[in-house]
Amino acid sequence: MSDCIFCMIKDHQINSTVLYEDDICMAILDLSQATRGHALVISKVHYDSVLEADDEALAHMIVVAKTLANQIKENLNAQGINILTNAKEAAGQTVSHLHFHIIPRYDQYDGFEPKFTDHQGKWDLEEIKNEILK
Ligand code: 5GP
Ligand code: ZN
Repeated sequence: MSDCIFCMIKDHQINSTVLYEDDICMAILDLSQATRGHALVISKVHYDSVLEADDEALAHMIVVAKTLANQIKENLNAQGINILTNAKEAAGQTVSHLHFHIIPRYDQYDGFEPKFTDHQGKWDLEEIKNEILK
């Protein structure tokens, strides 16, 4: 038996609130509910993160995430949605099994605060490009 919590969920060995399921993925409500309606799309095959995932499975999962995001936005009266995936501990991943978060947004005080620090001018963009593409 797997000790991965999302493998146990997708195998229906432990309970979750299921919103959608097919052969490739499953959508469930996240226990933490960062905002009301916070959902997860998890893969049926175990991949540690998006970085290792199969391209076809990923393509399918992002479409499922989009469809569910629209449904959540419409029916829960959200004003926007963040769809995101964390890859590796340094990026905040706590469950090492591919999943997309769907986080409905109501206002800036709704409990979720993505923050992009402005470092404009700090690094040379051409230098970064050359380093990435070497
Ligand atoms: P990560 O931090 O890896 O991007 O996100 C993992 C998410 O899984 C967290 O938001 C956490 O609340 C959620 N989670 C962890 N364990 C369970 C569980 O047993 N059931 C459900 N539904 N969500 C879980
Ligand atoms: Zn797993």
